[in-house]
Amino acid sequence: MTARRLDGTAWAARMRAEVQPRVEAFTGRHRRPPGLAVVLAGEHPASEIYVRNKIATVNGHGCRGELHRLPGNASVEDALALVNRLNHDDTVDGILVQSPLPEGMGADAEQRVFDAVDPAKDVDGFHPVNVGLLVQKRPALVACTPLGCAELLDREGIPLRGRHAVVVGRSDIVGKPMALLLLHRDATVTICHSRTENLPGFCRTADVLVAAVGRPAFVTGDFIKPGATVIDVGINRLTSREAVERVFAAGSPKRRQFDEKGSVLVGDVHPDVEAIAGALTPVPGGVGPLTIAMVLRNTITAAERRAG
Ligand code: NDP
Repeated sequence: MTARRLDGTAWAARMRAEVQPRVEAFTGRHRRPPGLAVVLAGEHPASEIYVRNKIATVNGHGCRGELHRLPGNASVEDALALVNRLNHDDTVDGILVQSPLPEGMGADAEQRVFDAVDPAKDVDGFHPVNVGLLVQKRPALVACTPLGCAELLDREGIPLRGRHAVVVGRSDIVGKPMALLLLHRDATVTICHSRTENLPGFCRTADVLVAAVGRPAFVTGDFIKPGATVIDVGINRLTSREAVERVFAAGSPKRRQFDEKGSVLVGDVHPDVEAIAGALTPVPGGVGPLTIAMVLRNTITAAERRAG
């Protein structure tokens, strides 16, 4: 069996197109486009790419995305002051603080800065108010990556009611909100993490398995119930030939890609899973584009809600 490919790129394009009339209506009514401010602190190559994609996407759909940079040696107070200014800027509907913040800001910096974002402008859905509303099943702004995964499952018609969904990973950004979104779709949900005993055993009972671990090709074929739906949230870059050869079989196009580019992307799910799962998101082209589409959707949602 070869798993059906759940094409995040194609679904994301549709989701973005659906948002377009809302952006146009808002802009016509309020004489300004919905505004998204992205805060990027320090130098972080992966963050640069994510931020560029997010801003290009919102700008490409009629919003006004703007980048606010802080130097790598900025203090947490600098970040808080910037967020405070954006909170009070009426042309800014959404604020997104790119993680990770520089280590020099301190261990609790992300918590402090995310907490400082006006919940009405929290397009990342990280603020405790928005997390609380999600817990109570009255979501306002929901974290973009799990929201994109849930939308994909809905639109692909993957049955969730009464099914066992296993989420590997319990981060505030992906794992926990993902589990809540599955719970609210009437799945029976298990959350696994680094202290889970017999992880493959739990995963093998999953009708729907979401891997958000941050470890390349970690979820192997022996984790998978034949025919299960597998959502691969992980994005890991392999830069050594040894690592690439460990994951990808001889003759794989990924090995050729590595020879040409010097690196390849791999998810948290091993390529062997494709032969066992019923449906699978690719990496790249799965969850990544859906996340960006949800940034756009949350921006217009925040703008509409703020405007009443
Ligand atoms: P975190 O590092 O915050 O969380 C990883 C989770 O995986 C933790 O809960 C951790 O458990 C768990 N974990 C780690 N090792 C193991 C193990 N050996 N067995 C079981 N569980 C384990 O990562 P994120 O949630 O932020 O991201 C997860 C992945 O998703 C990353 O690859 C990231 O790059 C990707 N990502 C992709 C996005 C996209 O748009 N496609 C967006 C955001 C993230 P514990 O809590 O016990 O430490």
